[in-house]
Amino acid sequence: MTGRHLSDSTKRLISALNKGKKMPAWVRAKISATNKAKGIRPSRLALIKGAKVRQSLGAIYSNTKPELAMKAWLESRGVEFRQQELLFDHIWDFVIPSLKLIIEVDGCYWHGCPIHCPNSVVGKSRTVLDHEYDSIAKNNGWVVRRIWEHDLV
Ligand SMILES: [Zn+2]
Repeated sequence: MTGRHLSDSTKRLISALNKGKKMPAWVRAKISATNKAKGIRPSRLALIKGAKVRQSLGAIYSNTKPELAMKAWLESRGVEFRQQELLFDHIWDFVIPSLKLIIEVDGCYWHGCPIHCPNSVVGKSRTVLDHEYDSIAKNNGWVVRRIWEHDLV
């Protein structure tokens, strides 16, 4: 099956978020332990995570232009993928289970692309988190590829 498919765990998380509830306790505990070790300030983190969750939820119901482009590209190749998939306590843009490949489409503003938003404070903070999530995925045997929004649209 190709196209948008949300796993049960992702659906549960989204439904909890939609009700204005917090993430499951075990997810929060894991994330907070990791971030404590990394020395990321909780207030900064809450801001970033809130933005990411809103962004992810938005993407589920209305794909951004670059995500539509990536989706079309994957579909044209008949690759089985999942969109906005929860894996390792993080919602990823595209997950291809058969290849253990994760594709993240990074918005120029949100991730501070060096061409369009080199001084983005949000971008700098997000990059720290991005690397964190990437290394967790890599340590679990997955490959993570990040593609800039400006390379897709
Ligand atoms: Zn850019």
